[in-house]
Amino acid sequence: MPVEPEYTEPIEPSAAVAEANRKAAEAANAADEKDGKDFADASRFQIAPPDVPVITSRKDPEKVVWDFAGYEFLEPDGRSQARTINGSLHRQGELTAVSGLFQVTSCREYRVYQVRGYDLSNMTIIEYDQGLIIIDPLACYETAQAALKLFRDKTELTKEQRPVKGLLYTHCHVDHFGGARGIFAELGDPLEPGVPVVAPAGFLEHAVSENVYAGPAMARRAQYMYAAQLDKSPTGQCGSGLGLTISTGEVTLIPPTAYIGGPDHQPVEKKNWQSSYVIPWRQGLYVYEFKDSGFPLVFQLTPGTEAPAEMNIYLPDARTLCVAENATHTMHNILSLRGAQVRDAHAWSKYLTEAIQIFGKDTDVLFASHHWPMWAEVENEEPGEQLSNARILEFLNKQRDMYGYLNDQSLRLINSGHTGIEIAEQLKELPPGLGDHWYNRGYYGSMSHNLKAVYQRYMGWYDGNPAHLWELPPVQAGAAYVEAMGGAEAVVDKAQHAYDSDTADGFRWAAELLNHVIFAAAAENGSPLAEPQVTRAKELQAKVFTQLGYGRENATWRNAYLTGAQEVVHGPQPLITSQSSVDLIRSTTLEQYFSALARSVDGPTAAERHRTPIVLDWVFVDAGTGAETGEKCTTTLRNGVLVFVEGGDRFVVTPDATIRLSREALNELAEKPGYKNNFNQAVDDKKITLEGADAQAATDAVFGTLTLPDPRFPIVTPRTRS
Ligand SMILES: [Zn+2]
Repeated sequence: MPVEPEYTEPIEPSAAVAEANRKAAEAANAADEKDGKDFADASRFQIAPPDVPVITSRKDPEKVVWDFAGYEFLEPDGRSQARTINGSLHRQGELTAVSGLFQVTSCREYRVYQVRGYDLSNMTIIEYDQGLIIIDPLACYETAQAALKLFRDKTELTKEQRPVKGLLYTHCHVDHFGGARGIFAELGDPLEPGVPVVAPAGFLEHAVSENVYAGPAMARRAQYMYAAQLDKSPTGQCGSGLGLTISTGEVTLIPPTAYIGGPDHQPVEKKNWQSSYVIPWRQGLYVYEFKDSGFPLVFQLTPGTEAPAEMNIYLPDARTLCVAENATHTMHNILSLRGAQVRDAHAWSKYLTEAIQIFGKDTDVLFASHHWPMWAEVENEEPGEQLSNARILEFLNKQRDMYGYLNDQSLRLINSGHTGIEIAEQLKELPPGLGDHWYNRGYYGSMSHNLKAVYQRYMGWYDGNPAHLWELPPVQAGAAYVEAMGGAEAVVDKAQHAYDSDTADGFRWAAELLNHVIFAAAAENGSPLAEPQVTRAKELQAKVFTQLGYGRENATWRNAYLTGAQEVVHGPQPLITSQSSVDLIRSTTLEQYFSALARSVDGPTAAERHRTPIVLDWVFVDAGTGAETGEKCTTTLRNGVLVFVEGGDRFVVTPDATIRLSREALNELAEKPGYKNNFNQAVDDKKITLEGADAQAATDAVFGTLTLPDPRFPIVTPRTRS
């Protein structure tokens, strides 16, 4: 039974936090009075708002996977009253809460629609006389299904009149492919929808690897980033900067059938460039035409920007550019707080420069897979005045400048010996020409953590100071600090004093002091802490985190602090994450599959228990005929490591076991916990055959070393002593 948090009384904002939030709201109000374009753009050409209060799980109708009604408090009227939300963040929340079906643009050949506010991301629909092309089918089955249904209901274009004829993924993040199968729900869940699915080169490999290797830890930390366990309210979750939050339904994936930049889709040569592509030829552009559509789409690959496999899409007939997630109405993440590989701010700015050069003169409409579009406009309403896309160009240029600035300025200071922490303190704001645009504010990424991310990219975790080379771990350090500072009572008093200063730096110091007390409680040999002292430290830490959360303009920081405030008192809460995806397991390469298995080997125990290598040969057969497919590999458990050799290990004469199975049977082993049992069951069911004198002992030995991740590990409190 999940334990309900005991306290429901929200913590009051401090006087200084409330005042700062009010001032930020006033500034936002004044700015919107002068220039209301963001709000005009966010609701422009709205056809219909959402027509349901929530979207529920298809497997468990009790479970809400998306909640429209929860965000009703995010009204412009509430901005000035919200003492617990930074006024600028409130404004961003209001904008991302504008939801429903919107027309983006139209031309003779097609119309472009978006469904926004149905997930973290947007779904874009190109509708033409023969059918629909979907760009980015949201993060889960249920929201994608609901978004397409809204389109059908409001346009009255049925699945017979406008069948889905193609799917495009702009990049390899789950909020852009997870709903793929939901699009085809209207056809009764076909296994293979039989339409082209187009993605940038490298898509599948990266889509899988990001979600498989460190998936459990990222899912846990995503709870902090999106505050999934908190109420949606002015004292709780109020968005995530990039969108309201991420949906929690079933993640699916339909593997691409065509890759832009893959062997079959290479850049168009100059001699084959056509005037119907509108923009002039340039090296490295791709063109793809969906069958029967009769109109071309032009692609610019942007690998290593916001995602390792990503692309911009140009719609020549509509003079419209989709910038994927390369330019949005926020400073994006160079490093996501949920944990990820560091992104390349330099590549990001470079590809934006390229996009401006390629498409900038011929773009009247700009949209992305998050937030609202921008349109060229008639500036002076003079007769005969042409459309001007100056605003779009300014936006793209200033987003580019921002990523360039983050990269270059961090590197400049790195080369003068500054560490990540120091750089983040020196460069708190972008220069005025950049930072005074709402779209460059840090709602999702932040100056602070992005500058540190650039440091991490080039320099790694170590700052070069040997005092930090071999630091004590948190529990041991906590105990030592508490003792050095005169005991827990004294440390909590000092933290209270810092808290009472009612300044951000006071809160930051209090958080550090209290963290030492809370972690010291788990020390074996540290000074014994009385239970009331630890409770007092935790309760004060909840207040400290809450003030830090209420005061932040950055939504993901707010979410992290407020989730920390809940967990420091009540412990880790039940996870609310999307349902694990069998599609992702099915899409792994053998190398990825066995790498994922290898990360769950209990290395120390395996090395101790199995002093000689255990060799398993895997031979793959067709699930239907049982004939060998020619695919083979070897896995060897040695020294606590599961080593994978594609095609079979040439040095092995006699494996300890030869395992014959279909790829489908291999997938099933990983689809539910208990690998060893699943394997033995599959052998009993004759889905797998085993050869070798001691084959059963060998497989039991190898699979017996596999452990399960702990999906609810504590973060703001120590692991309990075991
Ligand atoms: Zn996204």
